[in-house]
Amino acid sequence: MAEHSALVLGRPRFLARANARARRAQLGAQAGPYPIQEILRTVWHGHGTGTGGAGPGTEAGYAARVRHLPAFASAPLPEQPPRVSRAQAWGLLPDELSALGVAAADATFERLQRPWLWQDGVPVVSKAARAVLESCGLELPRVAECKSSVDGSSKLLLQFGADRVEAVHMPRAVGSGRVSLCISSQVGCAMGCGFCATASMGFHRHLSAGEIVGQVLRVVAELGPRHPSELTLVFMGMGEPLHNLSEVARAIRVLCHPRGLGLSSNRITVSTSGLVPEIDELGRLSPRPLLALSLNATTDEVRGELMPIGRRYPLSLLRAALERFPRRPRERITIEYVLLAGVNDSNDDAVRLSDFCATFAHNINLIPFNEHALASFRAPAEADVERFARALLARKRTLVTVRRSRGRDVQAACGQLVQS
Ligand code: SF4
Repeated sequence: MAEHSALVLGRPRFLARANARARRAQLGAQAGPYPIQEILRTVWHGHGTGTGGAGPGTEAGYAARVRHLPAFASAPLPEQPPRVSRAQAWGLLPDELSALGVAAADATFERLQRPWLWQDGVPVVSKAARAVLESCGLELPRVAECKSSVDGSSKLLLQFGADRVEAVHMPRAVGSGRVSLCISSQVGCAMGCGFCATASMGFHRHLSAGEIVGQVLRVVAELGPRHPSELTLVFMGMGEPLHNLSEVARAIRVLCHPRGLGLSSNRITVSTSGLVPEIDELGRLSPRPLLALSLNATTDEVRGELMPIGRRYPLSLLRAALERFPRRPRERITIEYVLLAGVNDSNDDAVRLSDFCATFAHNINLIPFNEHALASFRAPAEADVERFARALLARKRTLVTVRRSRGRDVQAACGQLVQS
């Protein structure tokens, strides 16, 4: 807990440096890049949710978690963590249903994946098909809680077995049928970003493709929209989607299948903290979603302090990955930049941000920090947000939007999602 306290107290820039010194001292490391496992270890010691001998501050607790380190860890990733809900049927494609012996597999897939065909909240399939599907796992997440914001958005707490994740349902405007749905890809997150409430949970497990699809279908069944052409999906909830890329990719294939929801891959955005090899892999997917990068700093020093992944992949590698990411005509990469008062909001930051993006088609989303109890960072003043945006626009090479996060009053805004 001591390290965590250090992480959340004090003024951010000083805090970040003090943190770095504390970590170096703790790790016995010299200046320079730190092994990512060690970085995550210090973070986990401060967060943790385990109990007893495998608790967060113990070697056993660390060993239990280190088995689930992301793909950027030097050790190969062993088996997946155990699933605690049985939802695999939702992640199966028609030919896979057919291979399992489901008759009329296309029609069965359609009845599974189109919530407007369900009756009383469950799909209507033949008895024989249901038996096969239930043997795979046909559980949908339970809506444990739904909080509605004054701005029309809703935060849903979805329960898979013992685990809970959050999804945020955001109608574009009051009375509008069009909806953006922000979904989770993991329970917790291993990335340890210093400004993010989810990071305080540590990493629990990946969601399976069936659980990701089930999350979408459950929310659509509860709150709409009534037609999938009105749905936009963003992987910006709990977790780093590229840390769980194989399951996220399968979920996208299922959600885009024309016999199911039939979403266009142009209306699915995957947001990453910057895992370079997985960005390349995402670019090779078919169907391929849109890419968003959560950048949040313009120097390696500051990014490395805010986001441990920045020490593994410096800005130069990240920019090269964005430059080679395949794009359709008029497609832009979204650069998300959380503005933290006094940390990353100087005019020099604006110039460096503009320069970073100069070599690929992009738009920049400025997101004033949403203060929460687990972080000491401050939201910038309105005038500073405007000054930063103007400094960016003065460079004449960028498209800038200031994103007013939805659902602030129900802790559903960016960086505020944490299991409660
Ligand atoms: S910002 Fe995203 S990647 Fe970073 S800790 Fe939070 S959920 Fe994970």
